[in-house]
Amino acid sequence: MRTRLVVGNWKMNGSLVSNRALLSSLPATAPAGVSRVVCVPFPYLAQATGLLADSTVAVAAQNASEYPEGAYTGEVSVAMVAEFGCAYVIVGHSERRSLFGEDDGVVARKADAVLGAGMTPIVCVGETLDERESGRVESVLRRQLDALDRVLDASALAGIVVAYEPVWAIGTGRAASPAQVQDVLSFIRTWLAGHVSAADEVSILYGGSVKPNGAAELFSLPDCDGGLIGGASLVAAEFIAICDAAGNHSQRV
Ligand code: PEP
Repeated sequence: MRTRLVVGNWKMNGSLVSNRALLSSLPATAPAGVSRVVCVPFPYLAQATGLLADSTVAVAAQNASEYPEGAYTGEVSVAMVAEFGCAYVIVGHSERRSLFGEDDGVVARKADAVLGAGMTPIVCVGETLDERESGRVESVLRRQLDALDRVLDASALAGIVVAYEPVWAIGTGRAASPAQVQDVLSFIRTWLAGHVSAADEVSILYGGSVKPNGAAELFSLPDCDGGLIGGASLVAAEFIAICDAAGNHSQRV
């Protein structure tokens, strides 16, 4: 059985007080077959790992530097986030790509750095609305995935999580339709099959305006192994409901 992965991305939200309230509302154990992760801002990693010490919710970072250490003011290294007990790091979120100029090469090197520190990169890929409307979804995805292949060997590629996040669906309330999601997830699975020996064992997530009401249908898609959840992960009841929906669809393989 492949477990479902439900990852909350808090983005630049939270405070010591609100984090405590949110994290203490999450049940200590997950629905069967579901792994839960919360990606918190760097300053709250220690607080989150402390509050979740007796819980199965894993703590993760939203970003990390491609550089190991040194004169990179404002950057945070993979070794630093690993020291705080992170199991995962998001790399290549569309907000990093569009607002902070991270290109495909940077994203691939960050994924490599995360793997080198013993953690799992959650590599975000996805097209803009313009790219979709001009029929370039697959060429954009192929370009983003091929960039990973130039840096990661087959065993490294087998150790990543891929998150398909169409840029036009992130934070807009306009989730991609189940058919759109499955089409792209299947394209990613096929790309993986050409590069790793066990493509079925690589988790592929969907992210983009996932809410509890669409979660069951999403998790029933053949190639969907979980979700990357932004806004809804800041509301305990919504995140819990999405995890429950994942639990009801946790026996695909
Ligand atoms: C995200 O931040 O990765 C995301 C998918 O956000 P939202 O769920 O709010 O669209």
